[in-house]
Amino acid sequence: MQCGIRIFMNNIEKYVLGVVLIVLTLIAFAVCFFVIRSFFEKVKKSSCVLSALETINSKTKYKKVESNYLYSYPCVSRAEFNRFDLDKYFLEIIGGNEKEFLKIIKAIESNKKEKAKYKRLLSKIDFSKSEEISRSVKIPHCFYRQIEKIYYRKMLLKEPITEIEIICRKEYTTPARRVHTWADATYAYKDLVRFYEEALRIKEEREVRSRQIEYERSLMTSSLRYEILRRDNFRCQICGSSVQDGVKLHIDHIIPVSKGGHTVPNNLRVLCDRCNFGKSDKLE
Ligand SMILES: [Zn+2]
Repeated sequence: MQCGIRIFMNNIEKYVLGVVLIVLTLIAFAVCFFVIRSFFEKVKKSSCVLSALETINSKTKYKKVESNYLYSYPCVSRAEFNRFDLDKYFLEIIGGNEKEFLKIIKAIESNKKEKAKYKRLLSKIDFSKSEEISRSVKIPHCFYRQIEKIYYRKMLLKEPITEIEIICRKEYTTPARRVHTWADATYAYKDLVRFYEEALRIKEEREVRSRQIEYERSLMTSSLRYEILRRDNFRCQICGSSVQDGVKLHIDHIIPVSKGGHTVPNNLRVLCDRCNFGKSDKLE
């Protein structure tokens, strides 16, 4: 009987001892947790590295820009697919969305500059004072440096977009939808800049040409018109008909204005409406 009580008491002692150990472990954990948390808070408040990083971050402004673009052109025939020029297509897309592409170029330029500035400023951060500060806040220096590093990595700004990929695609699907073919041309940021400049040049050339055409057309006065009619004996210079033959007479530019022809007597002639219609803008 006594032996049984002793075994029972031994078991209770073991049980109590176990509970005490668990409670002590929990208390130790809690203390460690609070000590470490207070270390983190102290480092965050006292670190001159982190406060310098915060200032640099607030001064750095990265622009938001998409990094991937896809433009697809569905060709209506195999022949169109074969001759379709993706570089020309890209130029047309830029020409039609000039403002958006300029925005992308400016954003990337700005991000490149800001990124370089950010790196330069980061390299100037003074890490040497952390030992002195760690002593003043009573945290072992190795802990202080580790905690500072954790925060530093967390606070570093994400790299901005400085490179893009633009895909221009031509596609062709056979009428029965059995075969789908496509081909891609990929353009990076430097290609975009080159194509953008080319698109601007084409646009300017077109504007100059349209101003020239307008000017040449304005030179066609009624007196010049009469002068040419009289010179050509009021007859079509191709078929010889006159108003008496029931045709209308026009003054025609031999080299069309749209192809660089001028409004001067040696580039002008009388044509009837039938011959003029047949000529259109073709150069003879
Ligand atoms: Zn004629």
